[in-house]
Amino acid sequence: MSRWASMLLLLSMALWTALTAAFGWSLVRPRNAAAQPVVVYDVTSPGSARRVYALTLEQARATLPPPVRAPVKAPTLAARAYPIPEYALDAGVSARVQAADAVAARPAPKPPVPPSKGVIVLDPGHGRGDPGAVHYVPDGSGGYDLIEADSNLENAQRVRDDLEAMGYTVYLTRTGAGNGPGAPLPLQFITSDLYARVALAKAVNAQLYVAFHGNGSTDRRLSGVETWYCGKRAAGDANADLASRLQRAMMDALHAYGYFPPDRGVMEDAARHDASFCQFVVTREAPVPAALVEFLFLTNDADAKVLLDPRAHELMAQYVAAAIDGFMRDRGGGR
Ligand SMILES: [Zn+2]
Repeated sequence: MSRWASMLLLLSMALWTALTAAFGWSLVRPRNAAAQPVVVYDVTSPGSARRVYALTLEQARATLPPPVRAPVKAPTLAARAYPIPEYALDAGVSARVQAADAVAARPAPKPPVPPSKGVIVLDPGHGRGDPGAVHYVPDGSGGYDLIEADSNLENAQRVRDDLEAMGYTVYLTRTGAGNGPGAPLPLQFITSDLYARVALAKAVNAQLYVAFHGNGSTDRRLSGVETWYCGKRAAGDANADLASRLQRAMMDALHAYGYFPPDRGVMEDAARHDASFCQFVVTREAPVPAALVEFLFLTNDADAKVLLDPRAHELMAQYVAAAIDGFMRDRGGGR
């Protein structure tokens, strides 16, 4: 080999060695982190043709839509067959608080109750097996169409309704219906019952006591209205005043009804009987102003016909309640 040929071979070998070394270095050299690689990214815009842009990595990231989160799946029955109650963590305290605040319905606030204008006891006479006076039908058959116990109760209940509408507190000594004639109560039972009725007035701190009766007589011609009171008491003047107001009210009611029976007036118990002792238990023993009204005669056919008409009782109650209200306002402590 000539000298030139040897040098050319050596140069070629050196050049090859340098090229392969440079190529290998290029494969293993450390990357420069700050280098900005070029990314080719497809961008599809509405209304435009599909284009291909060359973007830097930052531009590409800015172009990417935010990642879409997978929807949270509702827990299935199988997944949480036995969920842990929250209140289990605090021994049930929160559950009880929740029940008290959210579950238990709060009662609606009640409207304020106006104060009572007064306490009144109304006593429908007889009843509890005692019929009182009886109206027998005039055909001689012995049948009857009205007993005093029922007529008295209807009057007292209607007066009670009217007084309660005015704002009074009212107690009735009985509300049960009366029995018909045929088995009268022994007198001692009736008397003890009268004392029990008066005791009610004491028990409820009543301010007024009114007994409702109808009249009866063996003389069937007797007709009309009367009112009784006891003057032999400290409240004698108040009793007389109450009795005269009630008597006037009953007569006014019957006139409004269109019936004009005799006005038999106000009767003072002692003066009409023993002159020293009142006979009627309730008006004698009542601890408050008291009177006893006799609203027509059940033994009189014309009076009984009026008593069989509910409108007569309605008018009677209307006028008597107004009279009681007037008495309470003037001297009975009514407000
Ligand atoms: Zn009677």
